[in-house]
Amino acid sequence: MDKIWLSSPHMGGNEINYVNEAFQTNWIAPLGPNVNGFEEDISNFIKVESTETQINISTAALTSGTAALHLALVMLGTNENDVVIVQSFTFCGTTNPVEYQKAKIAFVDSELDTWNMDPNCVREAISDLLNMGYGIEGKVESKLGLGYIRAIMPVHLYGMPAKMNELIAISTEFGIPIVEDAAEALGSRYNNQACGSFGLMAALSFNGNKIITTSGGGALVSSQSEFIEKARFLSTQARDNAPHYQHSQIGYNYRMSNIVAGIGRGQMEVLKQRVEQRRLNNLRYKEYFQNIEGVSLQTEPDSNYYSNFWLTSILIDPIKTGGISRETVRLAMEKQNIECRPLWKPMHMQPVYDRANFYGSGVCEKLFENGLCLPSGSNLSEDEFKRIFDVLDSIFK
Ligand SMILES: *Cc1c(COP(=O)(O)O)cnc(C)c1O
Repeated sequence: MDKIWLSSPHMGGNEINYVNEAFQTNWIAPLGPNVNGFEEDISNFIKVESTETQINISTAALTSGTAALHLALVMLGTNENDVVIVQSFTFCGTTNPVEYQKAKIAFVDSELDTWNMDPNCVREAISDLLNMGYGIEGKVESKLGLGYIRAIMPVHLYGMPAKMNELIAISTEFGIPIVEDAAEALGSRYNNQACGSFGLMAALSFNGNKIITTSGGGALVSSQSEFIEKARFLSTQARDNAPHYQHSQIGYNYRMSNIVAGIGRGQMEVLKQRVEQRRLNNLRYKEYFQNIEGVSLQTEPDSNYYSNFWLTSILIDPIKTGGISRETVRLAMEKQNIECRPLWKPMHMQPVYDRANFYGSGVCEKLFENGLCLPSGSNLSEDEFKRIFDVLDSIFK
């Protein structure tokens, strides 16, 4: 029995042509026509999808989404005296860049509508951090040798847009920038605006299991082109303008290769299709679970939300199902060589973040306990769906 993956790469067909072209023209480097073309494709996509506002987007193609978030924090001047407010319910790619800068993390809880950053908990965190003596650059002096609250980092989990209206209101009120983790949300929208266009800067990921992939890769996007120019500079070892190698600051080797960007150009041609396919998967699961007591799905709260449904995720309440838990389903699937995965384990519960501050009541802990991601690839076949629903039938019917 072949393995059914949670989310596997799905090529459109044209990727290989862009890669071949790179070979034929000898653009085998972290620069070239594919890198430029891929960046343009991403910028245009986010612009076209954002019908509500007139925005111009610039993009820097990088080696990973984690690298994109790291550069965003570097450009904001994040250092060891600072603190960053981060959604706890996420993948370590969101939080690790804060650690690279040696800043503290204030973890915040999720709310139940979207499973993302709870705006009330963000307010609570800000007021506590200000009381502790943290400042806000250009607004509030810091005290007691502490630094600034550098950024607020929301995530659009599994493609579901976070409550950006409320979060932007907080960001504006206090003057703290938003660094948006849109790694899972390319193709998602909120209020007719594309995810990736809300933050001062935003990160995308093209890792192997994301909605589109370049095998590994990421991008930083922003409506402020200075940040993107700076990101290109920093991601190529911060070379000053001189005939020799001259450096007046520390750079990084984070630029995307022209080969990999060729895969990205092909993938951008099918991105809209991929979103539609994943939304159809979600609909199929939704219909299946409609009449099953104790199982609910991560759902768009209202018509202002448009999720790419990168992964379809369910909550199983073992009390209402009569003892069937997320582990019952996960293990039964595993037996049939079908991959399912618990939701992200909140970062404040991770051994490496043992003593971190957490603001909230533990909503994300409960989601983790009862939540499961189901196979959601855009290339799932009818046979594979049959195998998946057979397992579910054996449990629920
Ligand atoms: C995938 C992912 C990242 C990091 O992306 P990489 O390209 O794998 O470095 C960051 N945040 C979230 C929420 C992700 O899912």
